[in-house]
Amino acid sequence: MKLAWSTSNTYRSLPSELYSLVQADVIDKPSLVVFNHALANELGIDLSSITNKDLAQLLSGNQLDESWTPLAQVYAGHQFGGFSVLGDGRAMLLTELITPLGDRVDLQLKGSGRTPYSRGGDGKAALGPMLREYLISEAMHALGIPTSRSLAVVKTNEPILREVPLPGAILTRVAQSHIRVGTFQWIAQKGDPLLQKQFVDYVIDRHFPALKSNERPAKQLLNEVIRRQAKLIAKWQSVGFVHGVMNTDNMLVSGETIDYGPCAFLDSYQPKTAFSSIDHHGRYAYHNQPNAALWNLTRFAETLLSLLDSNPDSAAQVAQEELALFAPTYFKEYYRLFGLKLGITAIEETDHPLIDRLLELMELHLADFTNTFVALTTQQYLVSELFESSEFKEWNSLWLQRISKEDKPFELMKQTNPQVIPRNHRLDQALVMAQAEDDSLFQSLLTAVQSPYSAPSNHEFTKPGPANEKFVTYCGT
Ligand code: AMP
Ligand code: MG
Repeated sequence: MKLAWSTSNTYRSLPSELYSLVQADVIDKPSLVVFNHALANELGIDLSSITNKDLAQLLSGNQLDESWTPLAQVYAGHQFGGFSVLGDGRAMLLTELITPLGDRVDLQLKGSGRTPYSRGGDGKAALGPMLREYLISEAMHALGIPTSRSLAVVKTNEPILREVPLPGAILTRVAQSHIRVGTFQWIAQKGDPLLQKQFVDYVIDRHFPALKSNERPAKQLLNEVIRRQAKLIAKWQSVGFVHGVMNTDNMLVSGETIDYGPCAFLDSYQPKTAFSSIDHHGRYAYHNQPNAALWNLTRFAETLLSLLDSNPDSAAQVAQEELALFAPTYFKEYYRLFGLKLGITAIEETDHPLIDRLLELMELHLADFTNTFVALTTQQYLVSELFESSEFKEWNSLWLQRISKEDKPFELMKQTNPQVIPRNHRLDQALVMAQAEDDSLFQSLLTAVQSPYSAPSNHEFTKPGPANEKFVTYCGT
C-alpha cells in the first residue's frame, strides 16, 4: 500500500535496544467498527483514495504503507509500587504522522499481536475494552483534558480468550508520543550514560524544543514534566475522573492521559472511590491521584539525577526543589478550575473555603458530582438531601453573594460544567450491546460525550447509576 500521508519514524533513529521491529498478526476479514473522521481531518489524513475495506486492512496491521517499519517500544515501570521491565506487549508504533500544523504524533495499534515484550500475554485486545477506551478518550478530549486520541476500532472476527471467549479488536491510538516515565526508568536501569543523554536530547527535541538552548536542559525537562502532570491531574479532579492504574509506565512525559483500562468517572462525590478490582488499598483512588502522580514524578526525577548535577547531593537537592513545585502548581490549577465551575473568573485564596465547603457537603450528602454543578449552573435545585440541607442553604447564599461581583457567572459555568460524562452503567450497557453487534447505544453515547456542555438528546445519559451498587472496573486485558 502506498499512502500520500505525511509520515516518518524518528523513534527508529534511536539506538535499537529501545525497541524491536515487529509485525502485526494477520487478521482474517477485519472490519471497521468506528472511525474518527474529525480526528483524521485534524491530523491531515487523506482518505480520498482509500476505501473503508482498505482502511480496515491498514488499521488491523494487515497491509501497511510500504515505507512504514512498525516497532514495539521497551519500557519499565512501577506497577502498584513494584518495579518490572515491560514494553509494548500488545501494541506497536505504526509510524509517526506530521499534522498540517507541523506537529508530530504517534500512530499506534493496540491489540495487534504478540511482541518480544508480551511475557505471558497473547498480545490481543477485546472489543469491549477497546470501544471503552475510544469513547472515554474522546470524552476527555471534548472536556479539554490532554489525552491520547482514538482514530479507529477494527473488529478482528477472531475470538480471544479471557475468562470467556470475547470478540477481538484493535484500537488505533494517537498520542504526541508514547514516551513514559517508565521509558526513562528502563534507560536508567541500563546504566548507560551515552544512551541516557541521547534519549534526553531526543525527548527535548521532540516535546520541549524551547529547552534546546537551555543551560540546564535536564532540570528544565523535569520542571516541565512536573508542571504538565500537576495540571493534568487537577483537570482529572475537576471532572471526577479516576484513572485507576497510574503506574509509572502509564504516565506520559508529554502530559497526556493514557491507558484507559480500569478508569471511570465518579457518580456521587466520594473522594475515596477506587473502581479498579485490583486496587485494594485505594492507591489510585480519586483523592490519592495527586499523591500517586508525585510519587511517579519522584521516580522520574531519580532517572535524571546524574544529569542534574555531577555531585549526587546537589543533584538530589535540585530534584527536590523541582518536585516541590508539584503541590503549588497542582493546587493553583485545581482551585482555578473549581473556581470556573462556580462562576468565578479570577479565583483568590479567600475563595478556597467556598470550594472546599461545597465539596465537603457533597461528600456528606452523597451528591452526584456532575449533576450538582449542573444544578448550580441552571439554578434548578431538584429535591435532594444536599439541596434540602440547612448547611447547603447557608453555603448557597455565601456563594451567590460572591458571584454577584462576577460579570456573567452562569454563562461561564455553562462552559465549564459538563452535562454529560460517560456514566459507568450506560457505557457498560452500550458495550454489552456492541459486543452483540448492536452499536446504536454506543454511537449515541459517543455523540453525547463529544458535546459534553450541551443537553444530550437522550436525557438518560445524565442520570447516575444505581446508588447502592458499587461499580467495579477491570484491567480489560
Ligand atoms: P497496562 O496495565 O495495560 O498498562 O499493561 C501493562 C503491561 O502489560 C504493558 O507492558 C502491556 O503491553 C502488557 N500487556 C497488557 N495486556 C497484554 C496482553 N494481552 N498481551 C501482552 N501484553 C499485555
Ligand atoms: Mg500501559
